[in-house]
Amino acid sequence: MLNIILFGPPGAGKGTQSNKLIEKYGLTHLSTGDVFRYNIKNETELGVLAKSYIDKGELVPDEVTNNMVKDFLQRNTNEQGFIFDGYPRTIAQGENLEKVLGDMDTQVTMMLALEVDEDELVKRLLERGKTSGRVDDQNEDTIRNRFKVYQEETSPLAEFYSNQDKYMGVHGKGTIDEIFERLTHAIEAKTAQSE
Ligand code: AMP
Repeated sequence: MLNIILFGPPGAGKGTQSNKLIEKYGLTHLSTGDVFRYNIKNETELGVLAKSYIDKGELVPDEVTNNMVKDFLQRNTNEQGFIFDGYPRTIAQGENLEKVLGDMDTQVTMMLALEVDEDELVKRLLERGKTSGRVDDQNEDTIRNRFKVYQEETSPLAEFYSNQDKYMGVHGKGTIDEIFERLTHAIEAKTAQSE
């Protein structure tokens, strides 16, 4: 199985590149942000809870997110593998993912990180906010808070996967196709290594 964590700050292009990777490698996409937004739209209990955090640019509590991911993986088996987009975002989530995948006799293949500087990201997010309808993309304070959360809680995961020799950084500026090519090279280098 090819289990990829697509990593990077808000606005790095994870969603766009996920769609291309899924198509190329036949993976199942799990975007925790998309699952939360689906629940918000349908006004489920989970949606109401998640919205109170998302609108402020804060993380939904680990326990809620981890249970949702476990449930998703148990219901969506795919022998090709998964792409995790926006998950894990804390060390506790990383540990949960190890456990859930371990129970399925598989593991994370690699963390692919899209590296983009902050000013470019704020510009991209405000632009996306004009058309996406996402409240959390329309307010600069919320966006800045998401970066702060990313720095404090999410970026330590880079070291977590580096220590396992699974981290690969990719320059995230350029055309969609250029970035996609960098990602596929990194995947092929990693999978050739483990063959
Ligand atoms: P995203 O679409 O990945 O940018 O996620 C949008 C928002 O959903 C984030 O700012 C968080 O509030 C929430 N969220 C998404 N994924 C997670 C996660 N793995 N853990 C906690 N909160 C999350």
